[in-house]
Amino acid sequence: MDPELNVLAIAPEEDWKHLTSLHSISGLSLLTSTDILQEQLSKSQLIILSATNGAIIKQWLSQIRRQSDVCLLPVMAVTAENHADSHHILADAVIDFPVSPAQLEPRIKQLTELSRQIKAFSPLVEQFTPHEGQQVNLLRYLSSRKIDVLTPTRSLNSKLGYAYPLAAAFLDTSPGEEFARLAELAHGGLLQGGGYDRLHLCPDCKHYQLNFREVCPQCQLPHIKREGNIHHYACSYIAPESEFIKTHQLTCPKCKKPLRHIGVDYDKPSTSYKCLQCRHLFPEAVVNCLCINCGNIFSPPQAQIFEVKEYRLTLAGMRAAETGMIREVSPHMTASTPSEILNHTTFEELFRVQHWISKRLQRPLCLIGITVKQAGNGSPIGGRLRQNLRGNDLICQLNEAQFVILSLETDREKAELAMQRISKQLTGQLNKSLQLKIGITQLPQAEENLEQLMAGVLRPE
Ligand SMILES: [Zn+2]
Ligand SMILES: [Zn+2]
Ligand SMILES: [Zn+2]
Repeated sequence: MDPELNVLAIAPEEDWKHLTSLHSISGLSLLTSTDILQEQLSKSQLIILSATNGAIIKQWLSQIRRQSDVCLLPVMAVTAENHADSHHILADAVIDFPVSPAQLEPRIKQLTELSRQIKAFSPLVEQFTPHEGQQVNLLRYLSSRKIDVLTPTRSLNSKLGYAYPLAAAFLDTSPGEEFARLAELAHGGLLQGGGYDRLHLCPDCKHYQLNFREVCPQCQLPHIKREGNIHHYACSYIAPESEFIKTHQLTCPKCKKPLRHIGVDYDKPSTSYKCLQCRHLFPEAVVNCLCINCGNIFSPPQAQIFEVKEYRLTLAGMRAAETGMIREVSPHMTASTPSEILNHTTFEELFRVQHWISKRLQRPLCLIGITVKQAGNGSPIGGRLRQNLRGNDLICQLNEAQFVILSLETDREKAELAMQRISKQLTGQLNKSLQLKIGITQLPQAEENLEQLMAGVLRPE
């Protein structure tokens, strides 16, 4: 016969009545509590939460999933019907009041099986940082619960307008922070990202709440009015309708004759806009963008495009869940995030994306080639070069002495200035005899082949 299953049932005093049927199920070693207590959690194999108030269950669930030593435990929620929705994502089973032993027993059996699977996972490597431990636990949760896809949900609390509640709980992040952590896992090959939505973000504060509105091209304010233009045949005068004098009928402001019938003595050939602020008249309004969060105003092409993804566990991710080894697949994970020196393949991939964006939005981009000449044995220059670049510049080392840089949102003139500054800093920091030969080309161009473009900026004189 199976050993007894350690079940911890947690419910506020007044909700205990809903769990009385637990006592009639055999094979359970039942521990009860009115709140979450750490030492009780770690001794249990199955947790049952019950409360009429769904918010309490939600909070308990998130508390359990955030604690790395107990987060994988099977949890059943027993609650009032109308509260079931908000927590099914963090619970393994949700049952509505009232519950009978006949309802509970099969569920408990399923969860016992799950508890066995979780026990079979090898313990986490002790040298893990909390960060890595959380990642392995998330992978283990997805794999043990057979969750195929981690889908973002719309969220007003996240500055990206979406959140991954499940990942946020396991990774213990505040709303929106889980994006970077999931991208990191995808970068390491443990998750695979697929397209879900595309956002326009404020280029300053990276917030999604933007208002696109039509504005006056002269004063850039949105107080504009669209109206029909009137063409008076008799005197050929054309002006917006509001310019015509209105009494009991319209009168032409130029020749002072009254207008009779549209199509007979006048028509409305077009429309135009009038700015109620600066009185400017214009045929087409322009669109600009106001960031509701920080107040930044910018033109639509300046908005940063952000890809929201849904994630699936990869085979490597399943293996990592199984073995608890996350590092063997992740050494390149940190080495190729954009703040580091990229390898050629990643650089080429990012180049293609950035060149496409720059062409589409007509934003300048510079490819910079650097050849380092230094007398004698020089100090390694790659790291220093990286430190002196802006965070979003991409750099790739081709060989001991040659680097290419992709400088986003930069025209040739700005790139030249930046390179002068960097040369000066490097000779100051490293050695005086250091020489950098620099070639710059501004993109977008018709030439899209990176090798050709690189050959151009690295060409010896
Ligand atoms: Zn205006
Ligand atoms: Zn007239
Ligand atoms: Zn902003």
